[in-house]
Amino acid sequence: MLLRQKEIVEVDNLTFEYPVVEMFHSLQGEGFWTGTNAFFIRLAGCDVYCPWCDQKDTWSTKRHPFFPVSEIIEEADKTGAPLVIITGGEPLLHNLFPLTNALRKKGYRIHLETSGSRELTGVFDWITLSPKPYKKPLDSIYEYANELKIVVDKESDLLWAESEAKKVRKDCWKYLQPQWDNKGSRELVVKYILTHPHWRLSLQTHKFLNIK
Ligand code: SF4
Repeated sequence: MLLRQKEIVEVDNLTFEYPVVEMFHSLQGEGFWTGTNAFFIRLAGCDVYCPWCDQKDTWSTKRHPFFPVSEIIEEADKTGAPLVIITGGEPLLHNLFPLTNALRKKGYRIHLETSGSRELTGVFDWITLSPKPYKKPLDSIYEYANELKIVVDKESDLLWAESEAKKVRKDCWKYLQPQWDNKGSRELVVKYILTHPHWRLSLQTHKFLNIK
């Protein structure tokens, strides 16, 4: 089922290009779809600048090659994965309609991982909203989130999590995810969920497994 979105712009330009950090076939490591076979497209560019970011090499678009939609689809087709996850960086720095229109025509299920700091473009089956206090989301994104994922580094992030949870739809799944490099955040998250059962735990299982 497609999400309600403001508009479906009919752009189908297989020559439209995106700066791509990497494309790979793996399992979704985090959140609701953990363990799912997926093709990942990691787009370059991010201006949120989280201090603990584990993808700092994505921040600049200048360091990464541009690929046309046609080549991205070719790479996805080689894997046989039914699901494509568009991530970053912050993918909404780019107009995602050409890419999602083309993927949809090929029958892929399409997920987006975003901080919500930019206007939503593209049409998705699932949106993971991972808002960051360093550059807050636009108000317009919350109604489209299927899953809210808050990275917890310190205690004040739990207050941030609760304020963000009030903005999403009632049926939006809510996850707290420890900040990988801060082992103390694991205990913080577990203790918090034990007394706040509207949250679930998200772990970066791909890092535990040492896979992409
Ligand atoms: S939004 Fe994501 S990619 Fe951007 S700085 Fe934060 S963690 Fe890194």
